[in-house]
Amino acid sequence: MRKVMLTGDRPTGRLHVGHYVGSLRRRVELQNTGEFDDIFIMIADAQALTDNADNPEKVRSNIIEVALDYLACGLDPEKSTLFIQSQIPQLCELSFYYMNLVTVSRLQRNPTVKTEIKMRNFETSIPVGFFTYPISQAADITAFKATTVPVGEDQMPMIEQTKEIVHKFNSVYGDTLIDPKILLPENQACLRLPGIDGKAKMSKSLGNCIYLSEEPEEIKKKVFSMFTDPTHIRVEDPGKLEGNTVFTYLDAFCRPEYFAEFLPEYSDLDELKAHYQRGGLGDMKVKRFLNNVLQAELEPIRNRRKEFSKDIPAVYEMLKKGSEKAEAVAAQTLAEVKAAMKINYFDDTELIKAQSEQFAE
Ligand code: ATP
Ligand code: MG
Repeated sequence: MRKVMLTGDRPTGRLHVGHYVGSLRRRVELQNTGEFDDIFIMIADAQALTDNADNPEKVRSNIIEVALDYLACGLDPEKSTLFIQSQIPQLCELSFYYMNLVTVSRLQRNPTVKTEIKMRNFETSIPVGFFTYPISQAADITAFKATTVPVGEDQMPMIEQTKEIVHKFNSVYGDTLIDPKILLPENQACLRLPGIDGKAKMSKSLGNCIYLSEEPEEIKKKVFSMFTDPTHIRVEDPGKLEGNTVFTYLDAFCRPEYFAEFLPEYSDLDELKAHYQRGGLGDMKVKRFLNNVLQAELEPIRNRRKEFSKDIPAVYEMLKKGSEKAEAVAAQTLAEVKAAMKINYFDDTELIKAQSEQFAE
């Protein structure tokens, strides 16, 4: 079976370090292994409009921001097809047919949708498009026959929903759609990176992010304002690691070589953690180290982004080419779906022949 990866991001803001550790870093690694027959990376503008209908300018202006973040992180248009969701009309058609295979109560049970409805204060005024976006996500995944979907933990219920749609479709209409596999980060800290406030997950909509394109001063300011252990008041007090955002970020970003470079008195993260728990290690020192780590990780990304941003028309041209390629693939899947559902009347010579005989009788 062909190996196909599909994943994407909503253009609701620049991408942040949560996206990076949750999915983006993995995509680039997988892209560079060369083990995939096809890789599709989607800027999900149609999905972003489901909760930003009255703010199209926000979505429109963030397309380029997300595209630049992609290129800066190492997604390579020679190896991966980067495209814009709204330019692929077949995705709407697929969603429309999949809607018949999902119940309202099933959508209401989706935990991610539930959390997001609360977060956006929709209460009872949920746009239908937002409510049904898990279905449109199933269309995105199946249109490209994706076998692998690398995402953060919040996407688990979406992939579950997609799998149910695939099974239902295949059992009603015959084997047509490919069953995708979710690929979660192996590192626990990366499953759902918290925001700098330590509360919810880092999310563009919550404003608790460190962006990939952030300037050094800003990164430093954010690191030094980070939530730690509120009971760790004096340096000599024992500190807690659970819920301590600074240590979660170190778990997500620290490479062994950073100790030799920035904090040679410790040999590794375990030693640093043990000292913190024992007492005698101040938050400031740990924050200084995290700042150095993040600066080292983000500097090359920021510099590459600046290079790519010198030629914006070339970025749009790349997205246009990618969208054309993506549309051709989605059109092929839609044709197969319509044939399976027997709504391909004009291609169905058997049907026309049988009915002409029937009416001739
Ligand atoms: P929005 O608030 O508009 O929903 P978002 O910040 O949640 O934006 P998405 O575009 O919804 O970002 O998510 C894109 C991808 O990044 C998904 O695979 C998601 O799982 C992953 N992701 C987003 N935030 C995090 C996070 N804090 N930790 C790990 N992965 C994340
Ligand atoms: Mg999200």
